[in-house]
Amino acid sequence: MHGLMQDWPLNCHRILDHAATYHSEREIVSRLVEGEIHRTDYRTVRERSLKLSQRLTAEGVRLGDRIATLGWNTMRHLECWYGIIGIGAVCHTVNPRLFAEQIVYIINHAEDRILFTDISFVPIVEKLMPQLPKLEKVIVLTDAAHLPDSEIDLVPYEEWLAEADGDFAWQSFDENCAAGMCYTSGTTGVPKGVVYSHRSNVLHAMTANQVDMLGLSSRDRMMPVVPMFHANCWSICYAAPMVGAALVMPGPKMDGASIYELLDTEKVTITAAVPTVWMMLLAHLEEHDLKLPHLQRVVIGGSACPRAMIEKFQKVYDVEVIHAWGMTETSPLGTLCTLKPEYASLAGEERLDILEKQGHPPFTVEMKITDDMDKRLAWDGKTFGRLKVRGPAVARAYFKGEGGTLLDEEGFFDTGDVAHVDRHGYMQITDRSKDVIKSGGEWISSIELENIAVGHPAVAEAAVIGVAHEKWGERPLLVVVAKRGESPAKQELLDFIAAKVAKWAVPDDVAFVEEIPHTATGKIQKMALRERFRSPEAAADA
Ligand code: AMP
Repeated sequence: MHGLMQDWPLNCHRILDHAATYHSEREIVSRLVEGEIHRTDYRTVRERSLKLSQRLTAEGVRLGDRIATLGWNTMRHLECWYGIIGIGAVCHTVNPRLFAEQIVYIINHAEDRILFTDISFVPIVEKLMPQLPKLEKVIVLTDAAHLPDSEIDLVPYEEWLAEADGDFAWQSFDENCAAGMCYTSGTTGVPKGVVYSHRSNVLHAMTANQVDMLGLSSRDRMMPVVPMFHANCWSICYAAPMVGAALVMPGPKMDGASIYELLDTEKVTITAAVPTVWMMLLAHLEEHDLKLPHLQRVVIGGSACPRAMIEKFQKVYDVEVIHAWGMTETSPLGTLCTLKPEYASLAGEERLDILEKQGHPPFTVEMKITDDMDKRLAWDGKTFGRLKVRGPAVARAYFKGEGGTLLDEEGFFDTGDVAHVDRHGYMQITDRSKDVIKSGGEWISSIELENIAVGHPAVAEAAVIGVAHEKWGERPLLVVVAKRGESPAKQELLDFIAAKVAKWAVPDDVAFVEEIPHTATGKIQKMALRERFRSPEAAADA
């Protein structure tokens, strides 16, 4: 016997319909690439997205065609998302921070037909164009007045859009059709295409809006600093319109001063980004003695959020930190750290012990930790193993079958992360499996050491890597960027760490560097550091 409820496909564009109908005048504020602050609302964004769908249809774009974007977070990029998916085409967000050859690879691999790009990326596109034979058109997200001179054909977005009269309707199709594509950053092997469906995006956004997740509401003013090209923008471009939260789009400027300016003038209540963004903001706040009176919550993920950062946001600025874990393959939100009743009354260091964890999964994400034989491990908050997840918004395969079968016998996806879980279901990442430091018989968590090191007042950023060692196989090396004007002694830093971890986990040495290299999504590039500090001598010379 079947239920007798309506068949209402979970199509993503219905989210924008909802926002435009019930939250029509809610603001969408953007810092445009041209420099100005632009204001619009959900009703207007829907009208323009619909025109975009109409124009794409006129260009011959059909269900399943891939359309790429190379853009910052602005209302125009948002219109692209909804306009592309509204006719069943697939919105492929390309990360402009990738290496040129990776951009060429993924645009060709995805067989993108049209590219929407911001003015800032025109020089990249010009350079790569000869290697992109399948790309039919480049539309620049600006008007004719701001269109740069170029040797390649560039179409100004505003004039292109104005050719549509808006007399058009979204299409309706199976909710399992592809809606978006995002390639993994390819630190191991070639980048692989993760393909989100309409259904997975809608379910994921509904999940994200739970109170123990992002908990957005129509009273919120959400600023996604996390770029729209990073892992589905952590679902924010679907989750915010779904509840009618205002959006503040920071455009190309992510330095501390620019982020602070928008947080303050636009009265942002919740925001989200990787730790490096917040490091810049906190440095700016400290330097200029500023406060954050409007901001209530900051979502921090993409890499482990240091304990010192959680503490500073809470103690100095009265802002709640929500530590989040996820990956491109998980849509991406997998776990968030909000306090369940078991932990809600904790205070001080004990509370920080919990908030430092990556948190617990919502309904629709199931997780397990296993050993190398795929045996489930205990949830005791200590025993760590491979973190595996499954759910309706978790990838089961990559585009074109790259990488083969992804799931184990129980349908779980191996995240490549190493983690432990406590009895209340709080997960804590100890490492990427390839970054774990194996010293003698022990595994040393690089993330734990990094978190402790950045708690030292003279340390701006820290990375810990394994360096080959004759006797122990590997030993940890601490790589440090000192805060401006500070020059901490090596021993002082090692003593600071020794007070907090087992003796064998204390790094053997410290290397001071001007800068720690980051990947295109803001993670520490451990591979580059391992290359540089291949031997203990290289570290001693630094
Ligand atoms: P990406 O697909 O680029 O978002 O990268 C996903 C990977 O980032 C995960 O598999 C983790 O290794 C790492 N990651 C994401 N969030 C966190 C976090 N809160 N703490 C530690 N690692 C994280």
